[in-house]
Amino acid sequence: MYVMRPELSSYAHIASGKVRDIYEIDDSTLLMVVSDRISAYDHALEPAIPDKGRVLTATSKFFFDVIVFPNHLAGPLDDERIPEEVLGRAMVVQKLDMLPFECVARGYLTGSGLKEYQASGSVCGVELPEGLTEASRLPEPIFTPATKAEQGDHDENVSFDVVVDKLGRERAEELREATLRIYAEAAALAEEKGIILADTKFEFGVDKHGTLVLADEVLTPDSSRYWPADTYEEGKVQPSFDKQYVRDWLTNSGWDKESTPPRLPDDVVQATRARYVEAFERLSGTTF
Ligand code: ATP
Ligand code: MG
Repeated sequence: MYVMRPELSSYAHIASGKVRDIYEIDDSTLLMVVSDRISAYDHALEPAIPDKGRVLTATSKFFFDVIVFPNHLAGPLDDERIPEEVLGRAMVVQKLDMLPFECVARGYLTGSGLKEYQASGSVCGVELPEGLTEASRLPEPIFTPATKAEQGDHDENVSFDVVVDKLGRERAEELREATLRIYAEAAALAEEKGIILADTKFEFGVDKHGTLVLADEVLTPDSSRYWPADTYEEGKVQPSFDKQYVRDWLTNSGWDKESTPPRLPDDVVQATRARYVEAFERLSGTTF
């Protein structure tokens, strides 16, 4: 049956991040549109990665369907409220009161977590054993919240106590428990596919009944570090199914990470696209 779809311009544009654009459908519903844009080191890069928006949308949708937790999806990917021009890379979601923390779970040590550990022996106030190094598996996954930075700034890691001060102990504990539980579920699924989920970031909101709801994007390569399990080796930076390829290319290009980044060459664009597609296909067991 032919569906008469609304124009994107008929919705109020609420906000745009580096990757996503948000529109309001009505008082209780948003349209989250995922672009093909890619960012690294907090800079938007040129050109876009073809199909990235559709691959990320399919990845989030796959995990929303398998993860046992209330989520913000408010319609199918072919929902009649989705305009033709963004079909496949947009989701209709329930508008929530977002909690002001990025809820990160880490099963392995790398990135900002490793830096903090090397400086203090702990990450976000969680004490860790001595002798850990790049890519070490942690004795058990840890909750390492961060405050959301204003646009252009880096997120800042905070201790659990900061979450308690802001949201109260009950909500803070609920957040930590949910983050670690969802991480464990996803990490187990990935492991079966030969992929390590090193860490991931969730955002939660609260609905009008006060219920905690999983929001934003989930378990995409943009919000997670996925490593191939067969080449995993403690002590060195792992190749990953995400922007690592782009980051490495940028670093080797001699760019100072402050001025306008150099334009990505076509082979880097294609290799990056292939990584996003491969991560989706391996995790979901379906073809893109
Ligand atoms: P960045 O480019 O650094 O990620 P950003 O997080 O502001 O910037 P996006 O991630 O593109 O930008 O935009 C998603 C925004 O929508 C975030 O602010 C997120 O907290 C918010 N959000 C996600 N899900 C919901 C929801 N169900 N209700 C309300 N806001 C939401
Ligand atoms: Mg974001």
